[in-house]
Formats: sequence, structure tokens, C-alpha cells
Amino acid sequence: MLKKVLIANRGEIAVRIIRACSELGIRSVAIYTEPDRYGLHVKRADEAYSLGDDPLEGYLDPLRIVNRALETGCDAIHPGYGFLSENARFAQLCEQKGITFIGPKSTVIAKMGDKTSARDSMRAAGVPVTPGSDGNLANLEEALALAETIGYPIMLKATSGGGGRGIRRCDTAEELTKQYPRVISEATKAFGSADVFMEKCIVNPRHIEAQILADAEGNVIHLFERDCSIQRRNQKLIEIAPSPQITPEQRQYIGELAVRAAKAVGYENAGTVEFLLTGNEVYFMEMNTRVQVEHTITEQVTGVDIVQEQLRIASGLPLRYDQQDIQLHGYAIQFRINAEDPKNDFLPSFGRITHYYAPGGPGVRVDTAIFTGYDIPPYFDSMCLKLVVWALTWDDVIARGRRALDDMRLHGIRTTSNYYQQILAHPDFQKGDFNTSFVPDHPELLNYSTKRHPSEIALVLASAIAAHAGW
Ligand code: ADP
Ligand code: ADP
Ligand code: MG
Repeated sequence: MLKKVLIANRGEIAVRIIRACSELGIRSVAIYTEPDRYGLHVKRADEAYSLGDDPLEGYLDPLRIVNRALETGCDAIHPGYGFLSENARFAQLCEQKGITFIGPKSTVIAKMGDKTSARDSMRAAGVPVTPGSDGNLANLEEALALAETIGYPIMLKATSGGGGRGIRRCDTAEELTKQYPRVISEATKAFGSADVFMEKCIVNPRHIEAQILADAEGNVIHLFERDCSIQRRNQKLIEIAPSPQITPEQRQYIGELAVRAAKAVGYENAGTVEFLLTGNEVYFMEMNTRVQVEHTITEQVTGVDIVQEQLRIASGLPLRYDQQDIQLHGYAIQFRINAEDPKNDFLPSFGRITHYYAPGGPGVRVDTAIFTGYDIPPYFDSMCLKLVVWALTWDDVIARGRRALDDMRLHGIRTTSNYYQQILAHPDFQKGDFNTSFVPDHPELLNYSTKRHPSEIALVLASAIAAHAGW
């Protein structure tokens, strides 16, 4: 078993990994930049080291991180999600310096992190891919000609994109002409690569993804699927496991496709294969070669601790489970509580959390790094808490989600939690009938009342009185 792991991340996912290390008796090492000096991951790790004043540079510097791991006697690095997690150069540097990168081989990251080469590998393996360009687009003329063949609407996508950015739907040649340079510029800025490609736009699809685990001996299993169709601007808001809207046959087929995809590229460790589903058609979209934000819900319905399994696999241990060992139990929903104001076009709402009361009770899990008095820094992702609920049936998990969202108090910033209450109250959501257009199709769900809760009014009054009295 690994003995000491450096966590090249921050926030809730760093805390999540520290917890898994602690349960396995592995020493954890945190890194941080100045705005995170008082962050929870710094407090909870066994050791913590500053990587400088710049908020982001330290988390994005492969050489410094690998050197810090070596200096502190770590045998492995866990990259979490975001930051360097899908950076093949970082994984390669670990390999060269004799540090275990907790994830697949750098060559596999390179292959799957590039969406067009991933599509090539999947086609070769007999996994159906979304119709689209063979590789990257050379210029606008090629894009326009290909769009005529595929038929509008089409999706223009950044080849090394992620996090829902660098994707534009184009319904006409005029739109494509307008969006083409925009996507290139966004891709260059956000991902450091100007490569773009084209896919047929699957209209009103469901986003269904399968979690896989693969060990060094080539054993691959899937942990069934997650339904991430509740999205805004191609970014996930609410995730569900298992999907309430696929048949047992589709479930089995998608799981098998994901295993085939992983085997075809010699995948090792945890990964997610994302698909778009329309009617009975399933198309491969991309593979995320890392732990995902929504791994939590799969843990709740299968009982498998995915992060512990990542650490075991990276230690060279074989998988502890056969496919038959993996059974689904109930339903889980994850709410990404973002520090954003839904009523103001989801504008980020950073600042001090004046009061936080955690939801609890049966079937409730919270993954977060916030606490009362915590200042959400403006430099990072706006997701500040993951609320996960579990129950035996679909109806019960919705009721539990509504109750847990109501339980939670998060004052001082605006969040997405009231908006999620509106989604849970919608009859189509309750019927388990929704696709990736649900959010744009229901703008009326943003018209909820922002009346403050009595407990929040009391706090605001108390602090006003305190300020007035000069306390
Ligand atoms: P998941 O795929 O786990 O559901 P997201 O797509 O929401 O998660 O991404 C999680 C985090 O990682 C976000 O902060 C997102 O901006 C970041 N991220 C994802 N892919 C990339 C990428 N290719 N380049 C840079 N950041 C990324
Ligand atoms: P990212 O790497 O940012 O996660 P993805 O390729 O996974 O990007 O796409 C993100 C989301 O964008 C999908 O979940 C889906 O809602 C939408 N999307 C992407 N490609 C298509 C497509 N070809 N047709 C319809 N929707 C798409
Ligand atoms: Mg994706």
C-alpha cells in the first residue's frame, strides 16, 4: 500500500482524498497557495506546504509539485479533478521521477484527453461515437462544408475542452461562421490549444455516463451509470444515480460499452465514459480520465469507495470486486451548491460565509471545505458544497433532497440551492422525464421568492446592531 500521498488540489476534493488516505492509513500532504492558507484541506492534511502567493500558479506547476512530493518523501500524487488532473505532461513527469500518478498512464491521458483522438480510438474499438469530423477542423471552409454533410444543428467543440466550456451549438451557416473564431479564441484562452472539431448536435439528449474501475492486471468493471442531464450551459448542476429514465437493457449496454472503451485503451484506475442518449441510440462523447465531481452518488448506490479504490489500484493491488459483486441499491442525487446568484444570470457570489448550518439526518452526505466564517476566494471554481442524498426509491430521494436543501443554512453569499428546490418541485423532474434542455426550457423556475428565512433576518439584524453599537 502507498505510504504517503501528495494531493495536488484544493477545496472539497482535496478533503475527500485526505479522508480516504486517512482511512487507509496513508499519510497525506497538502499543497496550497496563499489565499488557501486557512483552507480546510490545509488543516486536515498531515502536512501542508505553501507554493507561493499567486492563487493559481502553485496548483498548476507540474515541476514544483513533483519536486515537493519528492522532497517530502511521498510515493504518489493524487491530482483530484480540474487543475493538472488531465495533464499528460504532469503524469509523464511523475513517471519519469519515479512518483506514482494516481490515474492512468500518461499516454492514455494524452489519447483520451484529446477529444478527437479519443473518438478515433473509440471508433476503432467499435464503440459508437457521435457523428462528426474525423479529426480537428483545418479552417472555416472545411467546417462549413462538413456541416452541410452532417446537417444542422451542429456542435463546435474545443478538442481539449472541459468543464462545459468551449462548446457552441450552431443552427445555421451564418451562426457557424460567427462562432468559429469565438470557439477558437475561447479554447486558446481556457485550454491553451486552438484545436476545434465538429459533432452533430444530438437534440434534447440525455447525458448518461458510466463509472469504471480498472486495475493494473487489466481487470475492468463498471459501477453503472449517472444521469447528468440537468445542466446549464453544458455544465452539470444536479446528478443522479442510477438514471431514472433508462431501461435495464440500456443500463447493461452502456456499462458494457464503458468497459469495452476502457479495455481498448489499456485504461488503469478510475474513469468515466460519457455518452449522449436519444431514444435507443447511444453515442460516446468523451472520457474523463480522473475522479469526477459526481463520483459521490455512485458511492452511495454501490457502496464502493471510489477514492479508496483509486489508492488501492495505484498501490498495485488487484480489484476487490467482480462485476457481479456490484449491485445497485436505491437512488442518490447530488446538488452542486454553487456560490452563484441564479437570479442574476448565475453571477459568481464570492465572499464571507457568515453562517453555515449543515444539513443532516438519514441519507444525507455533505462534501465541502466551507465553514462559518470562511471567505470564498474569487480565484477558483464557484462550487462550494456538494449535497448528496440517498433513499430507496425515486420518490423518496426527491423528498429527501427537498428536505435536506431546506435543512441547510448558508448565509452571506447567494447560492443555487433555492433554484434546485424549484427543479425538484417540477412534475417532469418528479416523473423522471428530463433531458439536457430542461434548464433552458424552464426559465420560469428562476421566479422563486428570495424572502429571507427568519434565522437569516435575525443574524443580519444582530450584526447591524453590533456594528451600530461599535462592538
Ligand atoms: P465532472 O466532469 O467531474 O463532472 P466538471 O466538468 O464540472 O466535472 O469539471 C470539474 C472541474 O474541472 C471544473 O472546475 C472544471 O472547470 C475543471 N475542468 C474540467 N475539465 C477541464 C479541462 N480540460 N481543462 C481545465 N479545467 C477543466
Ligand atoms: P466537457 O468536456 O466540457 O464536459 P462534453 O463533451 O462532455 O464537454 O459536453 C458537455 C455537455 O455538452 C454534454 O453533457 C451535453 O449536454 C452537451 N453536448 C456536448 N456534445 C453534444 C452534442 N454533440 N450534441 C448535443 N449536446 C452535446
Ligand atoms: Mg464532459
